[in-house]
Amino acid sequence: MMAAKRGDFMKKHAGILLLVLFVLCGSSCQSSNYLLDTRFDTEEYLKDFDMPMEYAQSNGLLARSGNVYYAGLGNLAVYHDLASGTTGALCAKADCTHNSMGCNAFLDLGGPAGIQVYDGQLYWLQLSPTGWAVYRMGLDGNNREQVQNIQDPESYDLRFAIHRGYLYTAVVKSGVEGGESKHRLEIKQYVLGKQEEEPYTIYAQEYSGTLSYLYRICGNRLYVAVDNDPEWEGSYDREFFVFHIATREWKLLWSDTQPWLTKDIFVDQTGADILEVQNKDSYAIQKARLDFETGVREEKGSIAPIVGGSSEQIENVAMTENYIVLYTSAQLASQPNGQSTYVCRILDRDTYETVSEHETSGEYVVFVGGDENGVFLNQEVWAAEQLSETEELSAYKILMVPYAQDEEASYLMEYDETLIIGRADWKAVFP
Ligand SMILES: [Zn+2]
Repeated sequence: MMAAKRGDFMKKHAGILLLVLFVLCGSSCQSSNYLLDTRFDTEEYLKDFDMPMEYAQSNGLLARSGNVYYAGLGNLAVYHDLASGTTGALCAKADCTHNSMGCNAFLDLGGPAGIQVYDGQLYWLQLSPTGWAVYRMGLDGNNREQVQNIQDPESYDLRFAIHRGYLYTAVVKSGVEGGESKHRLEIKQYVLGKQEEEPYTIYAQEYSGTLSYLYRICGNRLYVAVDNDPEWEGSYDREFFVFHIATREWKLLWSDTQPWLTKDIFVDQTGADILEVQNKDSYAIQKARLDFETGVREEKGSIAPIVGGSSEQIENVAMTENYIVLYTSAQLASQPNGQSTYVCRILDRDTYETVSEHETSGEYVVFVGGDENGVFLNQEVWAAEQLSETEELSAYKILMVPYAQDEEASYLMEYDETLIIGRADWKAVFP
């Protein structure tokens, strides 16, 4: 009798119970939306608010707004206007000779912490007495100001990106524990312009080994590829994560132990193309595709190297929206003496057919991005020449390699900087 009554009660009220559960869940699901603006509720690319994929590899060395490129070169933010062909320091101060810390274009690149164009202004990180500070100024070189202080004073390999109202930092902190060296990868999210808000720690994990990582942001998802070689023998514990910005859900999409090392990634809505190299027996390059829906990584064929690495040259690979870029450079510790030639080969991203191949001048080059105008290689020769007892010359150049075979590679921008040893000023000479 009692049991039957209770059954009736349950039947009668099950609908209400379900309704209550639904309302509770519904309201909690709604409150866990961490997007900062309704405009950001889209997976489409937002030109003014998204981390630019074209120059992501530069870690903030190269940026662009319309016809104007910006680069953090040496002590200065430098611009190049494609329309007028002019290059100079990004400083609108009257009578400024761009040779001291009072210049608007002065960047503190003691720790290379990049530049980015966001919502019509140029942002960068600069060392401050308490750690790091975010700075910004107008794209005309006016209204330089400090935006906020951020944490993480002790770290190296600091990278940052501004994306849809948040500032993301990724750092590797190193230390020794029980005789073993440890690397701690930390990824944090700050609200841009709101110093009073505590940063949200997206990821913090310790690794022992040779740790490398890459991250990209696409729409409202941040992707991180981590490769850790615990025994230093060319076998990587590989992980690929996604962080959902709206829900703050952190998820491992794929992991494996392989001889392949991630050199570049290009993410879209459904998956990631991953450029991988290995050096175990001989140097090899391949592309793989990770499907976000299934978590399956599929190898998409090997790519023929240029030289395969030698004691004099290193070979590197990068990827843009439509192309794969192979290029050679002098070994950093080598004495190249101009005896080798270095090349930049551009391949179709899907067929791997060579689109063009150009000789590059200069011995040390690093890929910093690619867009419809070509691919960009940074040639920074720091302390290239001792001019006198007190003067040291550094040369900064960004080489633009075109896609067309019959066009010449040229310098997008360049300038020389003479450091005056022991003083906080310098001479900047633009051609
Ligand atoms: Zn100036």
